Amino acid sequence: MAKKDYYELLGVSKSATPEELKKEYRKLAIKYHPDKNPGDAEAEAKFKEIAEAYSVLSDPDKKARYDRFGHEGMGGASGFGGGGVNMEDIFSQFGDIFGDGSPFGSFFGGGGRSGGGRKAVRKGSDLRIKLKLNIEEIANGVEKKIKVKRYVSCKTCSGNGSKHGTSLQTCGTCNGTGQLRRVQQTMLGQMVTTNTCHTCNGEGKIVMDRCETCFGEGRTLEEDLISIKIPAGVAEGMQLSMSGKGNVPSRGGVAGDLLIQIEEEEHPTLKRDGNNIIFDLPLNFVDAILGKEVEIPVISGKVKINIKAGTQGGEVLRLKGKGLKDINGYGIGDQLIYVNLYTPKSVSSEERTILEKLRDSPNFEPKPGNDSKSIFDKMKDFFN
Ligand SMILES: [Zn+2]
Ligand SMILES: [Zn+2]
Repeated sequence: MAKKDYYELLGVSKSATPEELKKEYRKLAIKYHPDKNPGDAEAEAKFKEIAEAYSVLSDPDKKARYDRFGHEGMGGASGFGGGGVNMEDIFSQFGDIFGDGSPFGSFFGGGGRSGGGRKAVRKGSDLRIKLKLNIEEIANGVEKKIKVKRYVSCKTCSGNGSKHGTSLQTCGTCNGTGQLRRVQQTMLGQMVTTNTCHTCNGEGKIVMDRCETCFGEGRTLEEDLISIKIPAGVAEGMQLSMSGKGNVPSRGGVAGDLLIQIEEEEHPTLKRDGNNIIFDLPLNFVDAILGKEVEIPVISGKVKINIKAGTQGGEVLRLKGKGLKDINGYGIGDQLIYVNLYTPKSVSSEERTILEKLRDSPNFEPKPGNDSKSIFDKMKDFFN
C-alpha cells in the first residue's frame, strides 16, 4: 500500500508554520481519536497515519529529509518503524499535543504519558472485618480462626479467566494499553482526560474463550478459614492487617490485605483505662471500719483481697501487674480498685437506735487530713 503524502494527510502546505501544523494535527487527532470512534478500525488507522505524519513534519531534520527524498528517505526514522504503530507510542510521543500544551493538560493528568501505571502489579481489594474480643483475650492475646468470604484465584484456569488457561488476546480498542485518552474542546482549549478502556476494563487483554468455573473472572468467591494471631494489649479501634489475605483481583495480580478492626466486648464490672483495669468496689461503712475479706473480679477470674480496717471512701487500692500488657512492650498495667462507700437509703428503727448511739461516739467525729495517702489517692481519682 502506497503511503499517503504527509502534507496531504494533515491538510497543510509545505510552507506551513509549526503552529499551523500543530493546529491541524490536533484537529485531526481529535476527530479520529479511538475514544471517539470505538471499534472503528478505519478511524484508528487514520489516527495512526496522521500521528506518523506529524511526528515527521514537526521535526525539522526529518521534515527536511522527507521534503528531499519523500517516504524513501525516512526508513524507520519516523519513530514508528513503519508497520506496528502502537497507540502507546503515539501518546507518549505527543504528550505535548494533548497534554502539556493545553491549559487543562496537567490538571487532568494529561502531562506526558508515562504508561507505567498499567504495568505495575495489580492488587486486589482489601477486606475489612470487625473482631470482638473479651478482656481476657485482650489481656493474653489470642489466636482466632475466622471464616472469611474472599476472592481467590480460580483453580481451573490458574487465574487468567481463559478456558484451559490458554493465553489472552491483546485488546484492540486500546491496543493493550488498558487506557484511552479523550480530548475535548473547551472554551479554554484542549481538555485531556485519560479513561480506562471500556472494552477490556483497563486490563489491556481480552478473554476469548471463558473459563467455565469462573466465567472469565479468573477468581472465585470462597469461604476461607483464616487464623488470626492477636497480640496482647490491643484496644478498641486498632487495626491489624494481614497482607495477602484480601481479595485476589480479577485475572491475575496479588491479593489485597485483610484488615481487622478490633472491638472490645464490654465486661460487666471491669472497665479499661489504657493498660489499667478499673473496678468500682461498693463497701458499706461497717466493713470499711472493721475491715473484711472480699472477693473481686479480675481479668482472669476472681481474687480475694483484704480490706483493711479503717479504709476510707474514695481510696484507691492497687493490684500491681493485674492490668493489661502494653502492646508496644512498655510494661504492664495495674488493676485499680476504687472504694465507694455504700450508704443505706433507709434504716429500721432498731438500726436507727444503734446508729444514734454511734453518732456521739468520739471515734465518729470526722478528723480531716489524718490519712494523707488516701487524700492523695482521692485527688488522683478526681483527676482521672
Ligand atoms: Zn477460571
Ligand atoms: Zn482495552
